[in-house]
Amino acid sequence: MKIKRTLMISAMAAIGVLGLTACTDSGATAPAPEVSSGVEFEAGTTMARLAEAGTIKIGTKFDQPLFGQVGPDGVPVGFDVEMGKLIAAGLGISADNIEFVETLSANREPYIEAGTVDLVIATYTINDTRKEVVSFAGPYYTAGQDLLVAAGNPDGITGPEYFRENPDKVVCTVSGSTSEKNIAEYTTNIIAAAGYGDCLEPLRTGAAAALTTDNVILAGYADSTDGEFEVLGAPFTSEPYGIGLKLDDTAFRTFINDTLEAAYADGAWASAWESTAGVVLDTPDPPAVDRY
Ligand code: GLU
Repeated sequence: MKIKRTLMISAMAAIGVLGLTACTDSGATAPAPEVSSGVEFEAGTTMARLAEAGTIKIGTKFDQPLFGQVGPDGVPVGFDVEMGKLIAAGLGISADNIEFVETLSANREPYIEAGTVDLVIATYTINDTRKEVVSFAGPYYTAGQDLLVAAGNPDGITGPEYFRENPDKVVCTVSGSTSEKNIAEYTTNIIAAAGYGDCLEPLRTGAAAALTTDNVILAGYADSTDGEFEVLGAPFTSEPYGIGLKLDDTAFRTFINDTLEAAYADGAWASAWESTAGVVLDTPDPPAVDRY
């Protein structure tokens, strides 16, 4: 993962356009995906129900720059939000008819199981434990767990082993996440917050030596906090991001996988990336969809 903001800013400064060019921030949205019209779905499917209702409830994060963040205007923005718009468009539902519902790491499976949301698109790692209670379309991106530390890395942290070697040091993460589970292999000295944004203050005060979660989430915080923090850049897990849906709703999962593959092929996925996470991160190749 490369962070490209510094480069972009210095290039813009070099040609003297800083301040004249609108440097799109991570709050940007992609061009609205084309909403399918006259779509027909087999009666009784989730697609038919949603298309008929003309609305869909999508759970996403509200406090994660680049992927899912709600600003003062109340409108969620980010790559996950754009993925939601793509799926909705395939159902004939326009972006303004999507109801985005805030999900925390710990309530994603319960929200899907209870039908509080139709989908969860929320930096949500596909794994076997979760697959016992929900199904996943995708992956549509693969992240890796990393560490965010104070600028200059004053503690000299090199990776998660640091916390095994320094059991008195505290690491902050989020309850119900794979990040929490993975770091628990190294230490028990963990602050388990509700959202990753809640870890920034402990990191600032020194109450925590690092915040750990997926590198791309950390890149969003590093970018939005004016050089206070840096991402270590040594990912130690693989986190394939899936779109969570009701367990064994195979027709809906197939529809979402088909929609993702079409967006890979026609450039809509890349354009969604470029206008959100891509403001800070290089554009990756999309991962192969896993039709397990
Ligand atoms: N991708 C990881 C997970 O699904 C960490 C990020 C998050 O909590 O959203 O648990």
